[in-house]
Amino acid sequence: MIRGSCLCGGIRFEISGRVTPIQICHARRCQKTTGSAFAPEAACRADRFRWIAGEDLIQVYEAPLLREPPPLRRDFCRVCGSPVPVVREDSDFVGFMVGVLDDDPGSRPFRHIFLGQRAAWDELSDDLPRFDERPPADQRLPQRRSS
Ligand SMILES: [Zn+2]
Repeated sequence: MIRGSCLCGGIRFEISGRVTPIQICHARRCQKTTGSAFAPEAACRADRFRWIAGEDLIQVYEAPLLREPPPLRRDFCRVCGSPVPVVREDSDFVGFMVGVLDDDPGSRPFRHIFLGQRAAWDELSDDLPRFDERPPADQRLPQRRSS
């Protein structure tokens, strides 16, 4: 079982399955969201995800659409501001920032994306694959419901 929680502990959840490898996103919007140089993103199957507490504390923000739908969506704790997992009705997967996990998910970073937008002070020190923008459609983290 992989547990997770927000900063104040009001929102808690658990994942009973595996977590995807971790994608390090350096996009400007991810810098804004995290206040950091990048966002460590991963996902799990929706049927393996469960809220334990605080679902009523979740605030949803959808950013203006830049390209194709769905719009960038950030769910966060309205008490402490931590980014929390995004559960979409139309998706078989739940995406989240890995920093909200309390346990080691077993996954590790596997690539960097949107490096074209990286901050001047953002220094990379690994040899993982690098993309200036988003990876090709067939290489994205699972998000939409497969029909
Ligand atoms: Zn909180």
